[in-house]
Amino acid sequence: MYIGHYAAAAVILAAAPGTPVFPIAVAVAYPDLLWPFLVYFGKEKVKVNPMNPLQKAVKFSSYPHSHSLVRSAVLNLIPSVAFGLLYHSVLVGVLFWLGALSHWLLDAIVHLKDLPVFGSKKHDTYVGLGLWKIPKVAFVAEYLFFAGVILLTAQPSAWVGLLSGGLILHAFNANSFFAFTKKNLSKTANQYATLALVGFVAAITWFTLNWK
Ligand SMILES: [Zn+2]
Repeated sequence: MYIGHYAAAAVILAAAPGTPVFPIAVAVAYPDLLWPFLVYFGKEKVKVNPMNPLQKAVKFSSYPHSHSLVRSAVLNLIPSVAFGLLYHSVLVGVLFWLGALSHWLLDAIVHLKDLPVFGSKKHDTYVGLGLWKIPKVAFVAEYLFFAGVILLTAQPSAWVGLLSGGLILHAFNANSFFAFTKKNLSKTANQYATLALVGFVAAITWFTLNWK
């Protein structure tokens, strides 16, 4: 999931007005900011199918540190404490942790059954409701979910920037849902990971500049 994660950021910021936006924009993306580096260093594994651009064809074979419910919730304490200290605010730290946790919960709606619950190397339970299996529905549903939450939480003066910027970013992802190109534009795991990293850095910038 991409733009949908910013629905969680919107809920957190609306529930705690006055919270700085940047740490929350980072928090909801955090697992996907960490993940590319774990892929580069071979600590987590993903397999891209060069002949199929669809999101459901990407095999997340191992990502226990960044994308497990329990293990990542513990590991996410590190950036949570760091942001709490940086902003001299326990609340920022707690909200960062909740934002990072929301990432797994929302990913569980779209991912196939590959999201580990515990993050243990040997025996684990994997979840994922698999909305990506119906790609066109998943594409529309993710944006509608995001837009609906924005309308309920953001100031009306922020609607245009959030909804249009969100739509543009979401559109960049369209090939993963509609397979306009028959082949995947990312040929390797590292290329795919870099695309995710660039996408989330762009999303953090857009959301931080536009949330009100
Ligand atoms: Zn993710």
